[in-house]
Amino acid sequence: MSTEKPWYTTVKLPPGKFHQLDTDLDKLFAGLEDVGIGPRYVGEIRKGQWYAELGGPKHEYKSYIFVEVAKNSEEVVDGRVEIIGPELDELAPETSLPFAAHIKTWGPQLPDDLLEFVERGAVMGFLFTEGWGLVGARTNMWLRVSKEVKPRMSWLKMAQIMRANMISLCPLVEKVEIKWVVATPEVGGKDLVSKMLDEVLPKWEAIDARTKQIGDEDVDNFYGCTICKMIAPNHACIVTPSLIPYCGVMSYFTAKAMYAVDPYGYVFEIPAGDIIDLLSGRYSGVDEAIWERSDHRHRIFHLYSVIKYPTTNCGCFEATAFYIPQVDGIGITARRYFGNTPLGIPFSKIAGLMSGGVQNHGFKGCSIQTVRQPLFLQGDGGWRRIVWMPKDVKLEVADCIPEQVYDKIATEEDAVDPANLEVWLREKKHPIVEEYWKDGKPVPMKIPLPNQPWEDEPWGEIEHGKRKNFAGSSNEIPFYQ
Ligand code: SF4
Repeated sequence: MSTEKPWYTTVKLPPGKFHQLDTDLDKLFAGLEDVGIGPRYVGEIRKGQWYAELGGPKHEYKSYIFVEVAKNSEEVVDGRVEIIGPELDELAPETSLPFAAHIKTWGPQLPDDLLEFVERGAVMGFLFTEGWGLVGARTNMWLRVSKEVKPRMSWLKMAQIMRANMISLCPLVEKVEIKWVVATPEVGGKDLVSKMLDEVLPKWEAIDARTKQIGDEDVDNFYGCTICKMIAPNHACIVTPSLIPYCGVMSYFTAKAMYAVDPYGYVFEIPAGDIIDLLSGRYSGVDEAIWERSDHRHRIFHLYSVIKYPTTNCGCFEATAFYIPQVDGIGITARRYFGNTPLGIPFSKIAGLMSGGVQNHGFKGCSIQTVRQPLFLQGDGGWRRIVWMPKDVKLEVADCIPEQVYDKIATEEDAVDPANLEVWLREKKHPIVEEYWKDGKPVPMKIPLPNQPWEDEPWGEIEHGKRKNFAGSSNEIPFYQ
């Protein structure tokens, strides 16, 4: 029996409708035969195709999924799903609403360390189910359900898929209870979800604090993820303690746990190898692994650079860093900011330019969590090279920006046009003026075309169809032009 303690103490949730899923392990996916589930269903649901939308820009990206491990078995009623708000079939076509999914799990041997791994199982429900599209993670979920799948779909079915995924992905999970809130105005709308979010945010901060305790140089192995090869065949994400994938669904610990549980799955281990360039984060192991996983397209990755040999982007990044040639500086924008950037285009157009698994020097998809990391873009000068951000993103990461630079980073309220930005940076005495500009004027870098090498750091010698690795010894990797 559940102790029936309220899940939220600062906000009273309206009563919902309770459902009980079959908890027989042989029936995890029973009744879902009419819905496709699997990696082939990863994709986007575009304008005109969606029947219902949960979270996303119309609700200021304040919708979330939160998974926690309960301390006691009694706190969780396995298979119970409470739906607060209307079911999918009670919504009019093209309804968009704020949303929250709160999941409690329990298992006698389920450690907190596996929390993000278990969360991953839930999120895979959104990613891998026919007719569902997901952008964002955690606090900025943006979900769509297609018109095509709607007659065969319900929130309850998705809850069942999430529970089934979590249990099959991590057998240490023995109980799963789900609260699913579709926040119509009658239910409480965006205000209700915002208040709920305020209560779960400190729990996330405690989880993230763990990752901050280790640095990239403290570990022997990094990890990679290939899930998004479905949409970007030459792309693989690199996951290190300081590099949290931009989809935001995985940390270093999650990747480590995923690899331990399924070493032949989407997550692969990358021995870090030798440090070739500590400042920009070039590791021999990453170069070799990415060469193999990119269909021999990418040879060099700098983990801490947007300008030179940045990591590639599939398309589901929540934020992006970009080089601004006119001021020789770096801007950051996020999916939730719709205005123009100093490049003269908004996030959506930048995302279109840089997605698809190509190595676009000068563009790097990131998660907001990565922006908060001490090593973020240190190869380019870090915060001393960052000159522009949307105001609300700047506020969100304010505690990570060095005090001396904070007021010198422009927002859309200070300058957007590059000419105005140049004047503003000079007036504010941004460090870039002294450290990167020549005689008080910015000098744009000569950025190679996508997938092309830098003159001052070539790919390495190609001899007789073999690539010479950084140490000068020839390896057996065939080279394809
Ligand atoms: S964005 Fe990267 S980490 Fe996230 S699912 Fe795609 S490949 Fe994996």
